[in-house]
Amino acid sequence: MTKYVYFFGAGRAEGSSVMRNLLGGKGCELAEMTNLGIPVPPGFTITTQAWVHRQRAGRQWPEGLWDQIVEHLGRLEQVADARFGDRERPLLVSVRSGARVSMPGMMETILNLGLNDATVEGLAARTGNERFAWDCYRRFITMFASVVLDIRRDVFEEPLAALKSRLGLRTDAEIPAGELRKLVQTYHDEITARSGTPFPQDVREQLRLAVDSVFDSWFAKKATEYRRIHGVPEDWGTAVTIMTMVFGNLGDTSGTGVGFTRDPRTGEARFYAEFLPNAQGEDVVAGIRTPMPIEALRERMPAAYTELLEIAARLERHYKDMQDIEFTVQEGKLYLLQTRSGKRSARAAVKVAVDLEKEHVIDQHTAILRVRPPEVNEAIRPVFEERERTAAIADGRLLARGLPAAPGAAVGQVVFDPDRAVEWAKSGQQVILVRPETSPEDVAGMYASQGIVTSRGGRTSHAAVVAVGMGKACIVGAADLTIDEAHRVFTVGGRSVREGDVISVDGGTGEVILGAVSTVEGQLGDEFRELLGWADFYRRNGGLGVRANADTPADAERARAFGAEGIGLVRTEHMFFAPDRLPIVREMIMALDQPTRRSALERLRPVQRADFIGIFRAMDGLPVTIRLLDPPLHEFLPNWKEYKEMIEEKSRLEALGTNPEEQRRLGAMIEAVERLREANPMLGHRGCRLGITHPEIYGMQARAIIEAACTVAEQGVRVEPEIMIPLTGTVGEMKETFEQTRRVADGVIAEMGVHVKYLVGTMIEVPRAALIAQKIAEHAEFFSFGTNDLTQLAFGYSRDDVAKFLPKYLDMGLVPADPFSILDQEGVGELISLGIDRGRRRRPDLKIGICGEHGGEASSVEFCYKVGMNYVSCSPYLIPGARLAAAQARIRDRIAGGDDLR
Ligand code: ADP
Ligand code: MG
Ligand code: MG
Repeated sequence: MTKYVYFFGAGRAEGSSVMRNLLGGKGCELAEMTNLGIPVPPGFTITTQAWVHRQRAGRQWPEGLWDQIVEHLGRLEQVADARFGDRERPLLVSVRSGARVSMPGMMETILNLGLNDATVEGLAARTGNERFAWDCYRRFITMFASVVLDIRRDVFEEPLAALKSRLGLRTDAEIPAGELRKLVQTYHDEITARSGTPFPQDVREQLRLAVDSVFDSWFAKKATEYRRIHGVPEDWGTAVTIMTMVFGNLGDTSGTGVGFTRDPRTGEARFYAEFLPNAQGEDVVAGIRTPMPIEALRERMPAAYTELLEIAARLERHYKDMQDIEFTVQEGKLYLLQTRSGKRSARAAVKVAVDLEKEHVIDQHTAILRVRPPEVNEAIRPVFEERERTAAIADGRLLARGLPAAPGAAVGQVVFDPDRAVEWAKSGQQVILVRPETSPEDVAGMYASQGIVTSRGGRTSHAAVVAVGMGKACIVGAADLTIDEAHRVFTVGGRSVREGDVISVDGGTGEVILGAVSTVEGQLGDEFRELLGWADFYRRNGGLGVRANADTPADAERARAFGAEGIGLVRTEHMFFAPDRLPIVREMIMALDQPTRRSALERLRPVQRADFIGIFRAMDGLPVTIRLLDPPLHEFLPNWKEYKEMIEEKSRLEALGTNPEEQRRLGAMIEAVERLREANPMLGHRGCRLGITHPEIYGMQARAIIEAACTVAEQGVRVEPEIMIPLTGTVGEMKETFEQTRRVADGVIAEMGVHVKYLVGTMIEVPRAALIAQKIAEHAEFFSFGTNDLTQLAFGYSRDDVAKFLPKYLDMGLVPADPFSILDQEGVGELISLGIDRGRRRRPDLKIGICGEHGGEASSVEFCYKVGMNYVSCSPYLIPGARLAAAQARIRDRIAGGDDLR
């Protein structure tokens, strides 16, 4: 016979912490606390296995379950010295939900079960407190009716409120017993009228129905939502704990509260709790009454207060983590009703982990494993000031919630086009750029803005990727916004927001709020530095290096400050978009003959060289990987809208017969746009294909890189340039570009007479390149996996268009996660590990890294470690998280290998 029920009480429990999966979080910790000798009201827990068996049988209770409940109820009656349904000494219980992972407030709980028209009199007589007994009864009926009988709570709350106002009372506790008695009669009548049957007087019937409803509350809408968001499996189910009631509503020496062993907002080591005198737990948890600071307990019941503090400290030591506890004081006597690991802010997570190590509660590697990598990134970004944010939302100023794409909070005036963003920013205004979506030409406007909001696109859309890189707050796919660019206004839910109006955005939560909300700086505190210092110690001992994707000297400096050990990707095209260069770039592209093109390139060379000099200086002593030009040339030309405007303008000038010079210029531009237009730009004339058909472009870039390297080397800067060829797919492409680059580079070195060591390698981002990596490695001196393109090409999903179907796929579970955010280890990962194996077969010491967006995502970083990469490279703002994730991967691996890390 399966054991479905586990007892706890009188200092001993059948369960313990290790039985979390079977007893749920609440149940197992109540058992654990009982075993620790902490005062917990006795009770028993029905296992999640019972839930599973019942679920499989179409909600039919498994055999023996009810008998076991009845048997344990008997044990409980003995320990509690009261009897269930007894008129003299009635036993009252709570029926509580509790899953393996905490789902705070998502499922149901029923308190004061066991009361009926007879036992309520017994409770009144025994406590000598009639008001109290009837207060419990009316609470029980309200909860039971709403949870079990599915009758709305307000059916009961309205008459209660009416009664209080009729009697001119402020709190429930002041209602006299006689009035409560009458109120209960009203409740009985309502229930009979609404459900067709009277309120069940049989206490066992009450219990059976309550257990059934708590089982079913697993499927409540909010619980299901919560599981979807947090990735909790549907088939885990909930345990049910039945425990003796203790009463915080027995008068002035009673009360209830919740507390954290440390401040969950800051991590500060002080007991952070609230207390509500003369109340039951639900009043606090559900926010029905506003609790008082915990000092209220110290003043009223100093002994209980001292004991509570002792227990809190003991629980923290026992669980070696910050705890979130629920307690009740009944006539001066303290009881613990729950303990769990406390939820905390990113900042607090870091501080608590470091402090616990200092207090010798946990070791360094445990502290490192305690913090989630995204938390260290969040901890350094600005956020909304919480009180102002809450007030703004309460005011109805929340305009929309989009996808949080790049963390950080920002405030500014709305602008709808990038040029205006630049213009306004120049005159010292703070702006938020609002666009249907962004394209590479918007980069300058984005850079000038405090934040970016788009109504279309997903987390890996252009805007998102660029914004993360820039450290700008960014929200994408805010689909509720209807943007009218022509009239410079967006509408949402009937409201219009015009150019110049102020909005606030939080790219960490996706909230767009009307008006200004103050932001507070996330800062690199001492604890933060300390934790990352430990992480680096474990990581460097056989783990991954962490580099940055950085395109400018400023980015490089920031990256270094965040702990980058090199640059894994400089995208040279970002330099091409700068306003002072774009005209020269366009001239180069539009040139129809080699000499004109060369002359334009000659003018670009010194500018590029200057960029590289700045980056090399910032990264003195560290490697810098520079990718040669990657995007198709038409990206540098006017877009579709501008193209149409140019055609109109040209025909207008033609009709007027004026300005032939401008007509010619427009004609050439129009011709170039048409000539370079591609049906499928992602698969088009880009990457090394460009370098092969236009060797002069790659030649200019290689020359600029090596000239820069020689220049700074002469000044004593230690440079390690790595020239990277994008989008290689065949060995021929690799050989051609490799030789071409070496010829130019060696030429420069000979010319300048400075000895600089450099490497020429490639991105592996075309699936074919991964498959023939052995041959590619005959030439390439390093690999860097470009997982954005590799994912795009492996799945055949255009990165810019996935928003059209990916949400549906995620909803239907056709893909487990957005493969552009979280590396698809099964498919794309297979290409990577094949590529690594084959590449190293040819060149055992091949240096290998990753430079796609995945390089900053924890699970992808762990994968990179497992397949033996040398480093990951990511946006500067993701570096702290990558350092932590890489350390965690290394530590887990060593623990799995049986290493003693102490
Ligand atoms: P949730 O998971 O939503 O917090 P709980 O099962 O923890 O739900 O219960 C809700 C409230 O009822 C809590 O404040 C809890 O402390 C209180 N409570 C639960 N069981 C008892 C009990 N036996 N005696 C007194 N209060 C209780
Ligand atoms: Mg609780
Ligand atoms: Mg690419």
